[in-house]
Order: sequence, then C-alpha cells, then structure tokens
Amino acid sequence: MLLQNKHVAIIGSGMGGLMLARLLQLQNSIVKVYERDLNSEVRVQGSPLDLHEDSGLIAMKQADLLNEFYKNIRPNASKARIVDQNFNLKFDEHAISKTGSEKISDSSLDSLQDISKPRPEIDRSVLRKILLNSLSPDSIVWNSQFTAMEKENEGWRVHFKNGTTFYADLVIAADGANSKVRPYISAEKPIYSGITMIEGTIYNAKENAPHLFEFSKGGKVLALGKEQTIMYGTKGDGSLMFLLSSKIPENWISENDLDFKNNQKIFEWFKEVYQDWNSEWDELFKSSELYFIPRPQYYFPFNQSWETQENVTMIGDAAHRMPPFAGKGANLALLDAVELADCLTNNEFPDMKTAISYFEKRMLERAAIALENTLKNGEQLHAENALEKLLSIFNPTI
Ligand SMILES: Cc1cc2nc3c(=O)[nH]c(=O)nc-3n(C[C@H](O)[C@H](O)[C@H](O)COP(=O)(O)OP(=O)(O)OC[C@H]3O[C@@H](n4cnc5c(N)ncnc54)[C@H](O)[C@@H]3O)c2cc1C
Repeated sequence: MLLQNKHVAIIGSGMGGLMLARLLQLQNSIVKVYERDLNSEVRVQGSPLDLHEDSGLIAMKQADLLNEFYKNIRPNASKARIVDQNFNLKFDEHAISKTGSEKISDSSLDSLQDISKPRPEIDRSVLRKILLNSLSPDSIVWNSQFTAMEKENEGWRVHFKNGTTFYADLVIAADGANSKVRPYISAEKPIYSGITMIEGTIYNAKENAPHLFEFSKGGKVLALGKEQTIMYGTKGDGSLMFLLSSKIPENWISENDLDFKNNQKIFEWFKEVYQDWNSEWDELFKSSELYFIPRPQYYFPFNQSWETQENVTMIGDAAHRMPPFAGKGANLALLDAVELADCLTNNEFPDMKTAISYFEKRMLERAAIALENTLKNGEQLHAENALEKLLSIFNPTI
C-alpha cells in the first residue's frame, strides 16, 4: 500500500479536492483537506453543473454517491431556450423532445454538439454539500489558506496564512485556477483566451428580474449576437446567474478601472459594449441585490509537461485551467480525482513517483483534448454567425 501510514494533504475543497478526499477515505487513507474559506457557507458557489457520462458521473458512481446525486438534480435546469440579441425566441428545448439521432454530422461542429446534449444538472452548492457530507468528521480544515511549503524528511512542511503549519507525506494541489501550489510543480503560465466573461448574480430573481426569471422556465437561456453572448439560468435558491461573454483585450478591465462593486458603472459599460442588444436585457441590471465577478478566461498550454515528483501533484483547474465553453472543467476535476485515487491505492505501482507519473500523463492527454474542444467552442460561440451555428445543432431542420 503506497499510502499506508502516510498523511495526505489536499489543498482546496472544490469539486476535485472533495471527490479525491472521499475516494481516498473509502480506501482508508489518512487525508485532510485544507481550505482557505472560513466555513462551507461563506462563499457563493458558482454556476450549476451538468455531469458527463464519461467523467463526472463515473466519479459519483465510484464515490457511491450516484443515488444522492440523482435525488438532487434539477430536471429542467439543462433545457435551453435560444434567443437572438433582440430576445426573439429561436429554439425552445422545453417544447421539443430531442434524441441523439437528430444530431447533424458536420465534424467541425462536434464540440458544440457536445454542449447541446441533455445531461443531469445540479446546483453546485448542493453537489458540494453531498461531497462534504460524505467525508468523515473533521476532514476539512477550514480557514487554511496555503501560502508556502518546503521539503521536510520525505515529505513537505506546509504553511498557511493563519500561521499554522502541517507535515504531509503527499501534497495534492486542488486549489483551482490560481493555484498557489502549482509553482512547486510547473513554471508554465496561463495564456489569455481573448474572451472575458462578467458573471452576475441576481438574488430573489422572481422579484428582481421577473421577466427574465419567467422566460427561463427553470432552464438556461442562451443569447448570441455578433461576437458576444449572454447566458443565464436560475438556481434552486431562487437566484439567477448570468454571464456576459465577449472578446475584449486582456488588460481592458484593469486599464479602464472598471469598478465591479458599482452596478451603475457596469450597466453603462454594458450599454456601450452591447449596443446592438435590445433593452429587454436591461432587467439584468435593475436590482440592488446584484453582484458581479469579472472572469477573464485563461488556459494552460496544450503541450505542458513537467518532471513528476514523488510527493506532490495536482488535479483539476490547478493542473489544466480552461474556459467553460465546453462545460468540462468540473467534470475533468472529478475524473482526475478518480484516476489519482486509483493510482495511489490499487497496489499496481511500485512507488509513489511511478503512480503519480502514470496519472499525470493520462490527465494531461485528456485535458489537451478537452481544451481543444473548449477553444473551438469559444471561437464558434463568439463568431459573427454564432446563432445560426448553434441553431443548426439544436435543431438541424432549420
Ligand atoms: C462561469 C463558469 C461556468 C462553468 N461551468 C462549468 C460547467 O458547466 N461544467 C463544468 O464541468 N465546469 C464548469 N466550469 C469550470 C469549473 O467551475 C472548474 O473547472 C472546477 O470548479 C474546477 O474544480 P477544482 O476542484 O479544480 O477547483 P475549484 O472548484 O476552483 O476549487 C478550488 C478550491 O480551492 C480553494 N483554494 C484556492 N486557493 C487556496 C489556497 N491558497 N489555500 C487553500 N484553499 C484554496 C478555493 O477556495 C476552492 O474551494 C465553469 C467555470 C466558470 C467560471
């Protein structure tokens, strides 16, 4: 047993970190998850997630949590309505039953077809709770923001912002896109994709954005204009989350000093940048219960590689950050957890370094394919004729 009597420290309690902890605990490993948040409620969890058959659902099954997952999915949440920038309804998945056989066979559209597949969708906060509840008590060490680590004996002395330290035989970075552990493994920097998303959340959306709330029918709305998109959907807690996505230069936000706490300024920015869009979209900005997060989209390069180490590795966005245009990131993080847990506990590898090396190679191959689809989708969703392309996939008879 590679992990016998070894202390495993997972940094970050996102999808990847929690799933890995669950799977390692099922194999009786000694594992703690160190999370910077003060507790499980402190941060608003982002977009709902649909789990894919070849990744996220495999992980839930492996973790013995598939029943719990299906008890908590939101059946209408994955259904899409597609509109143009003037809010004309072009396609309504709520009104149509779709089968795989309706898909068209233009291979250049394969990755966009992938996002049109109906899949079980769950609120991220609910999925996170399922994973948290599956762990043994005191597995998560909250208020533990990783700052640094140095070699000690065969493992690492890990330091946190609150002044505490901990010894671990094996450190696993699951601390997301801006991982602070990653530099101990790889020096490669992320590349800007050319697209920035602005994420907005409207609380109590039934009151604060009644038309948009009703229109979504509990599912997703995708609006495509020339090189710009708006996507939104509601969550089980009554909020509505939207994403304004457009091609803008990398440092545009910081150079223009856009204040994301000033809703009026963001509205003015929207009216300037989305000037061809009709005023029905203004409802997104009317509420005082509205919060924004800027999300410039970066990715790690296709051909990244690093020298495997015997006592530190990484999973999820820390290893293969990419934009969300193919809905792959969380699914990949969950699958990484399955494969790493398997490599570390299946007794097929002579030592930790060989096990980690096998895992990392497969992870990077998988991530490169997902990244290719993601970037292709990003281009297609922000193309001049994006609406026609997407419609031809959802409804090939048009
Ligand atoms: C708008 C948007 C929509 C998306 N939609 C989808 C989708 O539909 N499907 C999909 O599969 N993916 C989607 N993704 C991608 C997905 O969110 C990520 O790929 C996924 O969350 C990565 O999981 P992770 O566990 O690697 O990291 P994260 O989920 O980011 O978790 C990282 C954790 O580490 C903690 N942390 C960070 N720094 C430290 C530190 N220094 N010390 C301790 N803890 C730390 C964080 O607080 C967090 O809890 C979307 C992303 C965005 C932005």
